[in-house]
Amino acid sequence: MTTTRSKLNFSSGPAVLPESVLRNAQTALWDLDGSGIGILEHSHRGPEFGRVLDRTEAAIREVGGIGDEYAVLFVTAGATAHFTTVPASFLGAGETADYCHTGVWSGKAMTEAKRFGTVHVACASDEKFTTTPTTARWSAAPRYAHYTSNETIYGTQWAAPPPGAPAPLVCDASSDIFSRPLPLAGHGLIYAGAQKNLGPSGISLVVARKDFVATERADLPPLQRYGTYVAERSLHNTPNTFGIYMIGEVCAWIREQGGLAAMEARNRAKADVLYDYLDRSETWRAHAAPGSRSMMNVTFRGPSVAAEEKLLAEAERRGMSSLRGHRSVGGLRASLYNAFPAEGLHRLVELLEDARL
Ligand code: PMP
Repeated sequence: MTTTRSKLNFSSGPAVLPESVLRNAQTALWDLDGSGIGILEHSHRGPEFGRVLDRTEAAIREVGGIGDEYAVLFVTAGATAHFTTVPASFLGAGETADYCHTGVWSGKAMTEAKRFGTVHVACASDEKFTTTPTTARWSAAPRYAHYTSNETIYGTQWAAPPPGAPAPLVCDASSDIFSRPLPLAGHGLIYAGAQKNLGPSGISLVVARKDFVATERADLPPLQRYGTYVAERSLHNTPNTFGIYMIGEVCAWIREQGGLAAMEARNRAKADVLYDYLDRSETWRAHAAPGSRSMMNVTFRGPSVAAEEKLLAEAERRGMSSLRGHRSVGGLRASLYNAFPAEGLHRLVELLEDARL
């Protein structure tokens, strides 16, 4: 993966997308598949968009190894909507859901779930959120067990899904979906906002077991029920047609790159360049502990806020954008999603080396 762009985009999301996908999208905006009408202009009920929906779903299923027991859904909302829709659908008064607490995002998900039922914290990171938990104490009969596969803000990532949950796993995979093979086993539902590894913001991909969806509450409004999306193939109302087009193109690109195993190997190699440097550096230090480190969001600190600010200014000067850590934790963060070019890591390490005190 190389880039012809002069700017390196380390944004945590919306984030860098594959160059070939963006170039194809430019063409499709004007003329989708030679139809003479652009993707933004086609009816969601017409045959041209129908083909886009078909090929997007097919590419997702192929890349993700997703069988018929799972539905592939496109929900016109970010991941935050699922913090509420999941408990509203599956958690009733007097029932318990288990949550793994690994940072800001799991915290937000738990806050919403508490409106609907009992939240049991089955496992949690250390106080500074540098690790993912290694053991869990599940409740006796949870409705589901929720975890965040990659903590975008603290930069930690589960190496594998939490083991031993006595209920279907529900995963917020917003910041690492399709960065590695999808661990479907044990999962009832996986949701991911698209704007990191899949496409534009404002749309989320949901991969849900049909028999899990069948256990949801039936008395919610249609757009708040996963079952509506299953029954109507995400076409109950006008979906985000452009978002679906983009997700399809990105998945086709992942397929061309060799699929998710190849993606993981590249992502690991990219992240290793930076972690190896940070572990050797006496100036910059990684936030996350070995074994819990994210391949997608590498968070790190300098010796002082002043040194970090100096680095950020120099980064901008060199055409490296969005290295500032999340506003809630400060520090620095390099987001290295699938489409981030490997050569960018060498430029970043060079910058860090030059910016030593
Ligand atoms: N979960 C995770 C892990 C995230 O990283 C984010 C966004 N950064 C969200 C949820 C929220 O996504 P959205 O803004 O699309 O609602």
